[in-house]
Amino acid sequence: MPVYEFRCQDCGRPVRLFMSFAAYDTAVPACPHCHSKNLKRRIGRIAVAKSEDARMDAMMDDSALAGLDEDDPKSIGRFMRKMSKEMGEDIGDEFNEVVDRLESGESPDSIESSMPGLGGGDSFADDF
Ligand SMILES: [Zn+2]
Repeated sequence: MPVYEFRCQDCGRPVRLFMSFAAYDTAVPACPHCHSKNLKRRIGRIAVAKSEDARMDAMMDDSALAGLDEDDPKSIGRFMRKMSKEMGEDIGDEFNEVVDRLESGESPDSIESSMPGLGGGDSFADDF
């Protein structure tokens, strides 16, 4: 699913929001920590293939986000695993590792810093 990364300009914390692209067009994202709307967009490092956008948008219309707590890595992990199951595809070992670590309670920032290639795919391009 699309994951939008922001940095809160007021409290300085990273903010990660799950949104459909349709929702992002109209949404006014707010910081879950201090409720500031003064967020600056960052480059997302966890992302899914763009071809899935339409299906993601359809899924986002139901209650998929109802139980999601963005401050709880386990909740994010469960959400991501549910999404990958609904897509009916194996997204990849890297994705699965991220989900496993989220579900074990590791913070997304910690996971990202330990996986510098996350979402980049550079290692595959180098095979040529
Ligand atoms: Zn904030």
